[in-house]
Amino acid sequence: MRLILLGPPGAGKGTQAQRLIVKHGIVQLSTGDMLRAAVAAGTAVGLRAKTIMERGELVPDEVVIAIIADRIDQPDAKRGFVLDGFPRTVPQAQALDRLLADRGLKLDGVIELKVDEGILLRRIEKRVAEMLARGEKVRADDTPEVLKGRLSAYRAQTAPLVDYYANRGPLRSVDGMASIDEVTAAIDRLLGSARAPKAGSRRRKVKAAGTTKRTVRKGAPRRKRSAAAKRKNKPGQRKKRTRRS
Ligand code: AMP
Repeated sequence: MRLILLGPPGAGKGTQAQRLIVKHGIVQLSTGDMLRAAVAAGTAVGLRAKTIMERGELVPDEVVIAIIADRIDQPDAKRGFVLDGFPRTVPQAQALDRLLADRGLKLDGVIELKVDEGILLRRIEKRVAEMLARGEKVRADDTPEVLKGRLSAYRAQTAPLVDYYANRGPLRSVDGMASIDEVTAAIDRLLGSARAPKAGSRRRKVKAAGTTKRTVRKGAPRRKRSAAAKRKNKPGQRKKRTRRS
């Protein structure tokens, strides 16, 4: 299974990616984590990325594309992966399309975590204040000031990917403001319904609670009613009415 998680910083992509890798036996490919590791190791890429990341700006496309191209060829990524924080620009998405096509691979889905940026910012401000009060270290790019810059980078450079993938088909959205478990359940439903149709089957879209759309097989058999449900209201039997006094 190959997935992309899309959403602004703080939307919960990392948390959901962690759950997906356990459930599906795939790996999480977070360009943010890889860049932070490069910064910590003091590699050439790390030296180039450090100040850009501290400002909350995006590292040049060619740098992250090279990192991902190398990473998806590693043996542990053969069973599948969830991309967290990549792609972040249209050129990155186009490069990913080429990387996958060259390898004869396809995406199984792009999941957008929809969030309210105002609430997100207040959550981060609160979390940072609590961490500082406890004397803990805060990530250099996790302060409210830098986060504002990261959010505006998301709006300008990454949000266009929603249309990019919506036009190509694999985009599905979930309410990222719901609880962590509810978001996980909504993603599970999307992935279950995305995989249910057999090749060549016709699809129609229906509304699903907690998701903006999902696909089901047209003409798929209805779920059987339980024996209790049948006893309660047999075919041809009218429902009992309770008279109002
Ligand atoms: P993240 O942990 O995904 O929020 O990423 C932290 C920082 O790493 C971002 O603010 C960017 O500076 C950089 N970064 C991570 N992924 C990318 C990417 N795909 N393209 C450009 N910069 C990235």
